[in-house]
Amino acid sequence: MSASLTVAARVEGAHVMLIRPHAKTMTETYQGLWTPSIMCLSNRKVFGNAFKQLKMDGGRFMTEAGYRNAESGKWIARPSQCMPSPVHVSSLDPRQPALFFVRESKLIDILQDQIEKSDNVEVVNDSYVVSFEEEEKYIKTVITQNEERYSCDHLIVADGKFSPCRALLNAHSPLHYRGYRVTRGLTSRNVTGNTSFQSWGKGTRFATVPVGRDSNIWFYTNSEEECPESLDPSTDHIYGENALRSIKDATFHDPIGEIIADTVTSTVHAQSALESFGSIYDSKKSNVYFVGDAARTLDPILAVGAGLAIEDGFDVANTISSSSGQRNKASMDRESRIRRLRFLSNLSQFSGQMNSSLLISIRDMLCTANTNLTSKMFDSFMSSSVRLTSDEVTLFRRG
Ligand SMILES: Cc1cc2nc3c(=O)[nH]c(=O)nc-3n(C[C@H](O)[C@H](O)[C@H](O)COP(=O)(O)OP(=O)(O)OC[C@H]3O[C@@H](n4cnc5c(N)ncnc54)[C@H](O)[C@@H]3O)c2cc1C
Repeated sequence: MSASLTVAARVEGAHVMLIRPHAKTMTETYQGLWTPSIMCLSNRKVFGNAFKQLKMDGGRFMTEAGYRNAESGKWIARPSQCMPSPVHVSSLDPRQPALFFVRESKLIDILQDQIEKSDNVEVVNDSYVVSFEEEEKYIKTVITQNEERYSCDHLIVADGKFSPCRALLNAHSPLHYRGYRVTRGLTSRNVTGNTSFQSWGKGTRFATVPVGRDSNIWFYTNSEEECPESLDPSTDHIYGENALRSIKDATFHDPIGEIIADTVTSTVHAQSALESFGSIYDSKKSNVYFVGDAARTLDPILAVGAGLAIEDGFDVANTISSSSGQRNKASMDRESRIRRLRFLSNLSQFSGQMNSSLLISIRDMLCTANTNLTSKMFDSFMSSSVRLTSDEVTLFRRG
């Protein structure tokens, strides 16, 4: 995803220059968007009818969530009720976790469409940023690989987790390996009907969501203590049959074998799970903002990175277009929500991907012993990771 797309559409009164390299060939996948980013995306002033278009294109709410034992398939934790699937976003409760799955290529196309409709946006295709000219407190000029120069009042950096621009700007935020690899893929048919689940095995986990009448998206994680030699995108990513190999050896309950067998090999993609701890406002230069994975990278198992990129765009645009240029309260509230997400990510990683058979038995026993309690805990974890403050709700709904 290019988060820069999400920024460009809404910096009112400014001339926006979007510099982007040649589009990579992507493996087809889906992105899950949680309540905060759904609310942001449905702000008509900013995103026009993007959310409506995504719904028309087959975007789908996930209604069921819960965790199962990987071998037996027995449920070990479930929320007390189905997740909401609102017909109109106005009926979405900003304190409740809702998860909307959209085709990644459609999300990019629809956001891109917003850009092409804006007459204050100029797109520079097939180009990338290689250096900057700076003054003491701000960046003055952006320079691309073919030596084009663009002067700028604000620089919004949206170049992903390896963020070459962040390094050029000396705002380092090192990537850490999370001790596991993640593989994802898409099936050629819907194998599970309406059912989504996540299964926790020994050092592995598997999750699947039906994403339309014709398909299931799935992801699989497996512990690998050893940090990959190089955290370089060109060597870290594995595709197709090679990526599928590790999961074929794992043992899981039905119908996971069927899901794997029905997977379209060309959609399979594996990579190391990485994280970084930065924020939008990390640069010493006052006119530089980082968005999406360039701001911070969270565990892929949380399914939040693309949604946060959308929110970042919204946040930066608001900061730039506010008369004071100051961050508002809602933007600070977001930072504390992201800190909560990190905590939940560690907890989820700890409970979902244990390596000890003893700990797994204790976990499963405790969870099944008091299902009421685990449901309550589950509900509060889920809502704590998405719960919006009233300032955030006002900001997202404004316009
Ligand atoms: C297995 C997996 C599942 C996931 N599932 C979800 C999910 O369900 N929901 C969710 O919200 N998130 C999910 N995520 C996270 C999400 O995919 C990322 O957070 C999101 O794609 C980040 O978008 P981005 O635009 O910040 O970065 P990227 O998608 O990496 O885009 C960066 C862009 O910058 C360009 N670029 C690089 N260098 C330069 C330069 N020098 N000049 C100009 N441009 C440059 C690149 O070409 C690229 O187009 C998942 C991640 C993984 C690995």
